Amino acid sequence: MMKATRQQIKEHNTNLVLKTIYEHDNISRAETARLTGLTRTTVSEIVSGLIADGLVAEVGLGEPSGGKPPIQISLVAGARQIACLDLSNDELHGALVDLRGQILLREYIPLEHRMGDSALERVLHLVELLTKAATAPLLGIGIGTPGLVDSHQGIIHQAVNRGWIDLPLEHLVTECCSAPVYVTNDSQAAALGEYTFGSQRAALNLVVVKAGEGIGSGIVLNGELFHGDGFSAGEIGHLVVECDGLLCSCGNYGCLETVIGKRALLAQAQALALQHPESMFANLMNGSDRLRLDHLIQAHQQDDPLAIELVARSGSYLGAAIANLVGILNIKTIVVSGYLARFGEPLIEAAHAEALRRVLPAMAGETSLSLSTLGDDDVILGVAALVLQQELGLP
Ligand SMILES: [Zn+2]
Repeated sequence: MMKATRQQIKEHNTNLVLKTIYEHDNISRAETARLTGLTRTTVSEIVSGLIADGLVAEVGLGEPSGGKPPIQISLVAGARQIACLDLSNDELHGALVDLRGQILLREYIPLEHRMGDSALERVLHLVELLTKAATAPLLGIGIGTPGLVDSHQGIIHQAVNRGWIDLPLEHLVTECCSAPVYVTNDSQAAALGEYTFGSQRAALNLVVVKAGEGIGSGIVLNGELFHGDGFSAGEIGHLVVECDGLLCSCGNYGCLETVIGKRALLAQAQALALQHPESMFANLMNGSDRLRLDHLIQAHQQDDPLAIELVARSGSYLGAAIANLVGILNIKTIVVSGYLARFGEPLIEAAHAEALRRVLPAMAGETSLSLSTLGDDDVILGVAALVLQQELGLP
C-alpha cells in the first residue's frame, strides 16, 4: 500500500473537519476534535484556514460545560454558490444553489424542441446567465442531462431527444467559464439529490426511478452513485416489457417507455378519449386534438374511471420494472420521481402490488416505495450534491 503524502493527509483532515461542521448547525472546536479524533491543535489550524476561505465563521458562544463558554463555529452556506442545470425537459431549468441546497435563483430557457448545436447554444446561454448572476464565488457547475453520459470525462455519448452524439459538454462549458464542471445523467442526478437532500437520507442504498421525457433510474450504493461499466446503470426505460409492443425511439419494440413514457401515456389517454366521447378525457380535450398531462392529472384527481384505470396500469408496468431492480440489487428503498409521481399514492400502490407479485415475498416485504419529496428540483439538487461531493467531500 502506498503511504499517504503530507498533502493528502492534510486534505483528508480538512474534509473530515468540514464534514463534521457541515453536519451540525453550530459546533465548538473542542467538540469537532472529539468527533473527528484529531488533536485540538490540528482542528484549530484547519478551522483557521476554513475561516480564511470564508467557508466557516464564528457565530457566538455555546453552553459552558464547567469553564469558559466555547466559541461556536458554523458553515457559511452562502460562501459559495453552485450553478445547476437540468436539461431533462424541453424547458431547460437552471438555478443557483448554496452549500445547504437552498435554491437562491432560478432561470428557465425554452428549448422549443431544438436539437444538436442549436440546443447546445441554449444550454451554454443558460450557463452564462447563471454564472453572471452568481453573487458569491462559484464552487462549480453541475449539469444533469438525459442520455448516456460518461461522467468521468463529461461526454454525452448519446442523447436521442437532443440529437447529441459524443458531445464533450464538460469541455465546452469549461471553455467559457473557469469553475469546475460536472456532467451526469439526469436520473442518476435525481438519485443523488434524493440521497443528499430528500427524505431518504438515512438510506445508504437507494434507487430513484425517474419519469421525465424518458424513463430512467439512478442507483446509489453505499452513498455513491453507481454508474455501471458503461455509465448506463439504471437505464430501465429500454427494457422490453411487451414482446409484441410498439416501436420505441431506440429502434426496439415494447420498451418500458412505449407504455409509460409521457408521450405514450398521453397517446393512450387520447385514444381512450376518442373511444369514449362522453368521458372526462374527451371533455377536457374540449375539441382540441391533444390531451395534456395536466388534463390527465385533473381527471385522475376527480376519480374519472378511465384515468384511474390508466394510472393503475402504468403503476403495474412500473412495478414490473421495479421488481427487476429489487430482484437484482436487493435495495429496499425505492423512490419514484418525475411526472408519474404526480399521480401520488394510487400509482405507488399499484406499483408495489405488482412488484410484490414478481419477487420473493421476503424481499418484496422489505421494499419501501415512496414519492420523491424534491418534486421538479430533484435533478437541480442532485447536481448540486455532485459538485459538493466532488469539490468539498460533502456531505
Ligand atoms: Zn426503447
